[in-house]
Amino acid sequence: MSKLLKGGVVVTARGRLQLDVRIDGEKIVEMGTNLPQAGAEVEDVTGRYLLPGFIDAHTHLELNNGPGTQGSADNFYTGSKAAVAKGTTTVIDMATPTKGQSLQECLAVWNNFAEHTSSCDYTYHMSIIEWNEAIKKEIAEMIDQGITSFKMYLAYDNLRVTDGELFEAMVELQKQGAMLGVHCENGDLVNEKIHQLLAAGKTTPHYHPLSRPDAIEAEAVERYLMIAKEAGLTVNIVHLSTRRSLEAVRRARKRGQQLFVETCPQYLLLDDSVYDQPNFLGAKFVCSPPIRKITDQKALWEGITDGSINTISTDHCSFNFAGQKTLGVDDFSKIPNGMPGVETRPELIYTAGVDTGRITLEKMVALLSENIARQFHLFPQKGILQEGSDADIVVWDPDKAGLISAATQLQNVDYTPYDGFVTKGAAEAVYLRGEKVAENGAVLKEKQGRFVYRKIPVTE
Ligand SMILES: [Zn+2]
Repeated sequence: MSKLLKGGVVVTARGRLQLDVRIDGEKIVEMGTNLPQAGAEVEDVTGRYLLPGFIDAHTHLELNNGPGTQGSADNFYTGSKAAVAKGTTTVIDMATPTKGQSLQECLAVWNNFAEHTSSCDYTYHMSIIEWNEAIKKEIAEMIDQGITSFKMYLAYDNLRVTDGELFEAMVELQKQGAMLGVHCENGDLVNEKIHQLLAAGKTTPHYHPLSRPDAIEAEAVERYLMIAKEAGLTVNIVHLSTRRSLEAVRRARKRGQQLFVETCPQYLLLDDSVYDQPNFLGAKFVCSPPIRKITDQKALWEGITDGSINTISTDHCSFNFAGQKTLGVDDFSKIPNGMPGVETRPELIYTAGVDTGRITLEKMVALLSENIARQFHLFPQKGILQEGSDADIVVWDPDKAGLISAATQLQNVDYTPYDGFVTKGAAEAVYLRGEKVAENGAVLKEKQGRFVYRKIPVTE
């Protein structure tokens, strides 16, 4: 039986319109005013917004961050459930091989994590952590299997590549039409700063942001963009966090360079005073790049308003405070890097962005769904509500009040960086390919997620 969502206001990146939405099977088959019931199961959504399911293009639902950390607190089961409960219907997870592992082997590992487990649809960015002829050959093989985006690192000694390797990879990715996202921090300088601080006995979380100042990111952004220009590749900058990096982006665009910029809620909502919380609690906020200054936060909101920033994803990478973050109690550099966030992004951005009048709801749809879908070859299957698209629909109640709390969250981790945040606006119901999978923050049907096969459009 088909479903008819009646009386809601459909919002896209370009506007809003009161439209009924008919769902048949997994797809939206008809949109219009006063659609006839015609045997359909009717859902009255008067007074609600109908938004395209949110896409989180930056999660680490399964991360083994080295010996002793026992891997991330969340896994595909818990993380995807937390995501879909609040309106995120697709995640693009970071598939990260170990040294010597082929991309194909890594893909099999990630499929094993997600298949029959994920509660939202999913795909992956494949990480390239070393460069050789075999890996080069595998890029086309990944694309054939629907993996059209890749990730590389300029920091973290176990993941980063040299500038030469980066350039060679970019040339190949350009040839194949693929998308690349890069973690931009100067790894050599990070190592040097950490060494200096620790040698001076500066070991608490307070020093984490001082070990990775804005220049370390901005330099890497500038260099990455220069190298991408040489390779002729349109690139993505993941988790951009500072005013200086944004200036580098604007310079590059002025030169005529095409690129995309992602930021994350933590850089828009928190500032570096979090690292001064007593009793080692600052460790909860240790992620890289670190939480920045108020001036950076302001610059990022401006970047969102003026279109310099294209997408907001979370960099969700959760570690428990007890037993994991505490590994770095005597040395901030041993605190596992990352924070939870896949669950809270829609409510946070609606509250801090839309409800305050900083951005429109249309802009939020662009930042959390449509722009991501377009950039990562998911559009128009995902990222928009229109005839023929997947019926991934968030029924959004703009007035619903909420409180973010570690005690009630679905993320499987013992804290949230937003504990005590009062929110306004929430997903009342979430449809995944036509199926109502969540209601009022609770998951009704779990493990309904599927791998999304992506194809690089020929016109690009
Ligand atoms: Zn990340």
